Amino acid sequence: MRFAAIIVAAGSGARIGGELAKQWRPLAGRPVIRWSFEALLAAGAEQLVVVLRPGDEPLAEAALAGLPRWSSVHGGRFRADSVRAGLEALTIGGAEAVLVHDAARPFVTAAHVTALLNALQTAEGAILALPLSDTLKRGDGERRIVDTPSRERLWRAQTPQAFRRETLVRAYASLPADVEPTDDAQVVERIGVPVALVPGDPRLNKITYEEDFAMAETLAGGARITRAGMGFDAHRWGPGASVWLCGVEIAHTQTLIGHSDADAGLHALTDALLGAIGQGDIGDHFPPSDPKWRGASSDRFLVHAAELVAAAGGRIVNVDVTLICEQPKIKPHREAMRARVAELLALPLDRVSVKATTTEMMGFTGRGEGLAAQAIATVETPA
Ligand code: MG
Repeated sequence: MRFAAIIVAAGSGARIGGELAKQWRPLAGRPVIRWSFEALLAAGAEQLVVVLRPGDEPLAEAALAGLPRWSSVHGGRFRADSVRAGLEALTIGGAEAVLVHDAARPFVTAAHVTALLNALQTAEGAILALPLSDTLKRGDGERRIVDTPSRERLWRAQTPQAFRRETLVRAYASLPADVEPTDDAQVVERIGVPVALVPGDPRLNKITYEEDFAMAETLAGGARITRAGMGFDAHRWGPGASVWLCGVEIAHTQTLIGHSDADAGLHALTDALLGAIGQGDIGDHFPPSDPKWRGASSDRFLVHAAELVAAAGGRIVNVDVTLICEQPKIKPHREAMRARVAELLALPLDRVSVKATTTEMMGFTGRGEGLAAQAIATVETPA
């Protein structure tokens, strides 16, 4: 069935915090409203009319840049005025059906549209709706329960709502000016036309409050998994007057020998991050054979690994480094090391740990031949 869509975006979104109305805010990298447009176009919409508040045109142009077959029209004071304006702006003659959709319900899919259009084969109107699962309470002005109405046969109306075009036009034409419907089905119900209930989707809930936005971000991000990576590094002691460990320079009677600044703590941590995202090791990204990295500050290695995590859509959850040596004493410098690593990774301090141990004079670290470091990192990424 050929169809056009009216997307109502004339609300100010005043209930959500911040300056920008919710339909224009980015959701996982795309404006909220664009999600619906892309889904409706994918479902075959022949024309899309977005109903705007006057002045919002630049926002719409930016949010819908590059998308075909849409135009905009100014809405009115009430929702019914906006839908009326949208109906008048429909220019294509062939569309048999009109879908009306709230811009603040970004997770509409082609499957929802198909279910609605199928229902229009036998009904003049059909809406997505969910049966109520929570017990209903009526309260008084003091937030005390007055009674418990039955939820039997009650549904929550969502959008899109689909109608035979002539039916919706006729219904709006006969709507008195003093009636303020909150959805389109009501307008059609008023003229005595039955409207079908099509099983909706909890993901179609409207983004109304700030906490709805957080939930939408989670849905938009899809499934996430947590990955762990580990790293190990060791460097040999040699002549010198200071040593770099976990991004902090410590005065010492020796230094660690290496191609870069030999910061074994940051090297182990860099390998842990690379390991968590399956992207090789520090030598792959910063080959010791490349003179560019001679004497390089290991800060750069760690920051690069963190950037690779971000590029993979990931987020570092926490990191933990253990330095293994008899000397120098790490404890006096531990908080400075944590703070530096937290700064480099842009993490809160409580998600960064630096610890130290000796090996009781055993092995190469115990004999003072070298210092070793191990690290673990956990990273959350798309599944
Ligand atoms: Mg190293």
